[in-house]
Amino acid sequence: MADADALGRAFSVPMRTRFRGVDVREGLLVRGPAGWGEFSPFPEYGPAECARWWAACDEAARLGWPEPVREQIPVNVTVPAVGPEQASRIVAAGGCGTAKVKVAEAGQDPAEDIARVEAVRDAIGPSGRVRVDANGGWDTDTAVRMVRELDRFDLEYVEQPCRTLEELGEVRRRTSVPVAADESIRKAADPLRVRAAEAADIVVLKVQPLGGVRPALRVAEACGLPVVVSSAVETSVGLAAGVALAAALPELPYACGLATLQLLEQDVAERPLLPEDGFLPVVRPEVDPDRLAAVEADPGPWRSRMAEARAAAAG
Ligand SMILES: [Mg+2]
Repeated sequence: MADADALGRAFSVPMRTRFRGVDVREGLLVRGPAGWGEFSPFPEYGPAECARWWAACDEAARLGWPEPVREQIPVNVTVPAVGPEQASRIVAAGGCGTAKVKVAEAGQDPAEDIARVEAVRDAIGPSGRVRVDANGGWDTDTAVRMVRELDRFDLEYVEQPCRTLEELGEVRRRTSVPVAADESIRKAADPLRVRAAEAADIVVLKVQPLGGVRPALRVAEACGLPVVVSSAVETSVGLAAGVALAAALPELPYACGLATLQLLEQDVAERPLLPEDGFLPVVRPEVDPDRLAAVEADPGPWRSRMAEARAAAAG
């Protein structure tokens, strides 16, 4: 069993709602001297892209993470593109002081975004923080109009209002609401480009695409903008790396997008990384053998994929 843990155990966990066109989250969990690491690149990624995801897993399993400077991480509740009543219920059940609201959903009209954000503001109260995430779904004119309109409900920031850096910069200059870059950042050099283009006030960083906690900390330092740590919708093993990054950042002025375990129907940890009163504890969850066995899949294809990623990282 120890050998199987070191070679990697594959998991396949159903998702409660479809995400990125998939309804199951899959990956490999690898045990090393420092603990468990997660390697869970999305299906369409090739070896070159997967190399960084492998490096993040290798760091977790072999090295562990830098010392934390805080004991808990504030997290946001996420409100998908649902109707206002359901949005209120999600905020009330989330128990978080910050809500991230999906806007600019394809097929919906602006009135639906406005009704949803209004319901979230009502539910979270005047002292809560409300941010919106357009996932690049607006053109600049629509973004400027919608951001101004939605700022009636006092927006903390708008995440990825448009697709390109140039468009983000334009929205930033034409409105008074801070702009956060998320999809614009997938590689270590991207935050520097964001900074150089003056395209955003805040960067959203994820551990696996950046190749680990240490590389992400270096990126944060080099770009000099406030960081929101977000997940790639991992199990508790992968989420723990995001928590470690958030815990090690010198400053953490915003709630993080790490409360995503609820998107999965099952988890592998003894004590899953779920928020309590809007915070995640800075802990490294232990894998529960029975829970892992309950979601276990054929490791063959995943071990091959990881070997290719490792080779790409070395080359
Ligand atoms: Mg986002």
